[in-house]
Amino acid sequence: MRVRLRVDPIKCKAHGMCGELFPERIRMDDWGYPVVDQRALSDDVLEHARRAIVDCPRAALWVEPVDEPGARVRPDDSD
Ligand code: SF4
Repeated sequence: MRVRLRVDPIKCKAHGMCGELFPERIRMDDWGYPVVDQRALSDDVLEHARRAIVDCPRAALWVEPVDEPGARVRPDDSD
């Protein structure tokens, strides 16, 4: 299943942790909010994405199947 990373801008409180945990796909804007690369995640970055999702203190990150827009998959769901 190909997935991409998504962020809920309402839940996010700009802690900035995700950008440190997953710099390959998340950069922080001038206010400390994440700007997420919307491309599908390749296998070599999935573990970093998982770490960012699990460690987000606001549970504001998830992955979305590319072929199923709007669906939410948390790492524990796909184990
Ligand atoms: S770790 Fe979570 S709350 Fe913090 S900036 Fe990233 S998405 Fe937002």
